[in-house]
Amino acid sequence: MSEQNSKWGLNLKVVMCPKCGKEQPRVRRPKNLRQALWGGYTCESCGTEMDKFGKEIIKK
Ligand SMILES: [Zn+2]
Repeated sequence: MSEQNSKWGLNLKVVMCPKCGKEQPRVRRPKNLRQALWGGYTCESCGTEMDKFGKEIIKK
């Protein structure tokens, strides 16, 4: 994590799923270690994983 990301890492805006547009709950429950460490969401509607800014995470 860069200094800039850690400084501005708290995203207070509502995050919406990049795929289906569903608003993600403000209080998140990390589904895996990466989400616990870095923040992020898993869309309850379509299962898309995204980071805390609502950018889709492409799994490799
Ligand atoms: Zn979705």
